Amino acid sequence: MKKFEIAAIPGDGIGKEVVPVSLHVLNTIEELHGGLKFDFKEFPWSCDYYLEHGKMMPEDGLETLKSFDAIILGAIGNPELVPDHVSLWGLLIKIRRELEQSINIRPAKFFKGLQSPLVNPKDFDLIVVRENSEGEYSEVGGRIHRGEDEVVIQNAVFTRKGTERAMRYAFELAKKRRGHVASATKSNGIIHSMPFWDEVFNDVRADYPDIQTASYHIDALAAFFVSRPQIFDVIVASNLFGDILTDVGGAIMGSIGIAPAANINLNGKYPSMFEPVHGSAPDIFGKGIANPIGQIWTAKMMLDHFGEIELGRKLLDVVEDATNDGFKTPDIGGKASTIEVGDEICRRLKRL
Ligand code: ATP
Ligand code: MG
Repeated sequence: MKKFEIAAIPGDGIGKEVVPVSLHVLNTIEELHGGLKFDFKEFPWSCDYYLEHGKMMPEDGLETLKSFDAIILGAIGNPELVPDHVSLWGLLIKIRRELEQSINIRPAKFFKGLQSPLVNPKDFDLIVVRENSEGEYSEVGGRIHRGEDEVVIQNAVFTRKGTERAMRYAFELAKKRRGHVASATKSNGIIHSMPFWDEVFNDVRADYPDIQTASYHIDALAAFFVSRPQIFDVIVASNLFGDILTDVGGAIMGSIGIAPAANINLNGKYPSMFEPVHGSAPDIFGKGIANPIGQIWTAKMMLDHFGEIELGRKLLDVVEDATNDGFKTPDIGGKASTIEVGDEICRRLKRL
């Protein structure tokens, strides 16, 4: 019997609606499988928690999380109550950094039953590897007054270690896929960090002679992402570029509500964290119509991470079949509720 202790943080907004659905799906898998056991412990850390306690999570929150095998996160943010930079840095970014989740992987592919805005979305199947611990999302900088003017400086921080780690991960991933890595750069306009990025990319690819590579400026890459996504297999990108590209990936699939992500701890010291790409979506919270697929797909990525590749593949097949048969939330053109979609997926899992 393989046993996994999993911390679940539903967080804010629709996170509270879609996380329970993904736990229902995982519990169903546990019942059917026999050889797997998931122990879930839920934590109420969120903006509501902040209003009561003055912080997003308790002082020993990180220590508590360290003892788990994985973390499932819904969404963080309720900008009407707590400024985003407070809630995100107080929980999400804190966990990613302190638990050394240095890589964020975000797959996007043609998904059966979804209306992609692309004319020919069929061969679209790629993974963005986003550097997750440094880059443009940095605390270095500040605001100064120069005469009458205000000047703001925001520094991006790139280390060789962090950059190389993301790139090596991308090349290793490409070995298991179609053997191609594209790098997202902007060394024609950003003259310190991006030439460095290119240099590290060149160094790393020398170690992988069997992998084909390409390097695009992020603006061109973003355009190709839409016009010719078939040319991509694995894309490696900095923190900011990766963030932007993956929202586009969600849009190409048909809705940001189905896009998954995983924050991976590569040194095995701490748990990895599985969260969808979408945010807390306050505009639809409480209506019961949030699409749970992004959250369920991240559960599939967690199964992959636990080595249960075949089980993960089956789960995603079931989700695609249910979608293709019309069990869809309104964002992808259906009428089903969050819970109905989850129940249908569980019903189909039981039929396997
Ligand atoms: P964040 O800053 O946390 O990324 P955001 O403001 O960028 O949040 P989201 O919360 O991701 O945005 O929402 C963007 C839009 O997509 C909103 O209109 C929201 O309703 C919609 N949306 C997001 N997630 C889902 C979902 N799971 N199902 C349906 N619609 C969604
Ligand atoms: Mg967003």
